[in-house]
Amino acid sequence: MPAALLAALSAVLGQGGLLTAPQDRAPYERDWRGLVQNPAVAVALPKTTAQVSDIVKLCAAHGVGIVPQGGNTGLVAGAVPVAGAPQLILCLNRMNRIRTLDLAADCIIAEAGLTLVELQNAATEAGRFFPVSLGAEGTARLGGLISTNAGGMQVLSYGSMRAQVLGLEVVLADGAIWDGLAALPKDNTGYDLKQLFIGAEGTLGIITAACLRLYPAIAARASALAGVASAEAALRLFQSARAAAGAGLTLCEYMEDKALALGAGQLAGGALPFAAPGYVLLEISATDPAHAPAATLESVLADALAQGLASDAVIAQSERERLRFIALREAISEGELASGGAVKHDISVPLGRIPAMATAVHALVARDFPGCIPNIFGHLGDGNLHINIRPPQGAALTTLPKAAISEAVESLAVSFGGSFSAEHGIGQLRLTGMAAHKSPVALGLMRAVKQALDPAGVLNPGKTIPGA
Ligand SMILES: Cc1cc2nc3c(=O)[nH]c(=O)nc-3n(C[C@H](O)[C@H](O)[C@H](O)COP(=O)(O)OP(=O)(O)OC[C@H]3O[C@@H](n4cnc5c(N)ncnc54)[C@H](O)[C@@H]3O)c2cc1C
Repeated sequence: MPAALLAALSAVLGQGGLLTAPQDRAPYERDWRGLVQNPAVAVALPKTTAQVSDIVKLCAAHGVGIVPQGGNTGLVAGAVPVAGAPQLILCLNRMNRIRTLDLAADCIIAEAGLTLVELQNAATEAGRFFPVSLGAEGTARLGGLISTNAGGMQVLSYGSMRAQVLGLEVVLADGAIWDGLAALPKDNTGYDLKQLFIGAEGTLGIITAACLRLYPAIAARASALAGVASAEAALRLFQSARAAAGAGLTLCEYMEDKALALGAGQLAGGALPFAAPGYVLLEISATDPAHAPAATLESVLADALAQGLASDAVIAQSERERLRFIALREAISEGELASGGAVKHDISVPLGRIPAMATAVHALVARDFPGCIPNIFGHLGDGNLHINIRPPQGAALTTLPKAAISEAVESLAVSFGGSFSAEHGIGQLRLTGMAAHKSPVALGLMRAVKQALDPAGVLNPGKTIPGA
């Protein structure tokens, strides 16, 4: 690595802004799951958009790739280097200011390094609500959330990150700064450029700040955990809750029993309230205090119990209990990792095909990967299931035929008219699926966009597009 580049980066970033020692770089070079670890030439920690622009210009001039990083909680190793070419990790976590809170326009302009929890809290303190919520929210950062178009538990009612973004500030591959932060819900002046960068996984530009929608505060919520016999029953329960609550149904998660048990194992006093083959977590919310979500939820559950759709149900009696239900669900990924990990998948299928997909996965595993344990849970209302295959009891994850399992699960989802990556993106771990399942026309369009915006391939090389 040319010492000249490191000296120039150091001059731009100042004291503490550039990490070069291997032990300082290591946590940034390894992905959340510990599957990928590749060296970076250094880790840059800018504090301003101007510094990001200078870094991009310097790296481009020296032919060094840039790997943007936020909380590094992504599940496809998009935020850590690929093997081979020299790359700099550009971590935006020190750019974490809230620039503007505009209550007249119901929006907030914040920098890329703000965590999701900090954003949610800022909205709450202002008497508003920011609806994106996911298990890694204490660590995941705004830039990463937008770059992965993160979903989470309330997409059902509010949409994913894409739906929250009103504007972006982006540093382009030549170092130019695009200020597209205007808080305009309507602006039909040509291409909607911000959409290019949302979900682009840092391959087209570096997001330095965003303008996001805020929503009315939630006045009342009611949550319940229901026991169901199958994914089919879970789907019917979802449909009945949706019919009763409409857009007020803000959360509907499905977990097979083994999955929820992993979450329970992560929490103190972690017993499940009752045993069932599967569980549905439902939440109905209202912004108008005159509405009573608890009454709607009680009636949905009473009907479900009467019709045999649910075998048991517990309604949260306090905010503490409601948060505990959510914590149970959110702890599944960590419980899975703590118990040895899994070959992970994040598929979506048209909603009505969820039961068939779950059944087909169990049959596939029993036939082709006997002894392996399917860990199935996810965002039922979005048709999005995490289908993770754990090794047989006592066996290590490394003994599994990972590529064959992924090929089989992803192909199954595609055969049901679905997607092989619903919300986690492609990064460097889903490139095989991308080559296998994305149409040549779609890949050609993606390559054309990449070539137009980053012809030298400086931004996040080796990610998202096979062969890029
Ligand atoms: C326990 C757990 C639960 C999760 N649950 C969900 C879930 O329910 N739904 C969901 O969608 N995801 C989920 N995830 C995945 C992850 O949290 C999200 O993908 C999140 O958006 C990543 O944010 P991050 O700041 O950690 O991004 P990182 O991991 O740092 O980066 C993710 C990608 O974005 C790029 N990037 C980061 N910052 C920028 C920037 N400023 N400009 C341009 N590119 C950038 C990176 O290069 C990388 O490609 C979960 C992860 C964990 C560990």
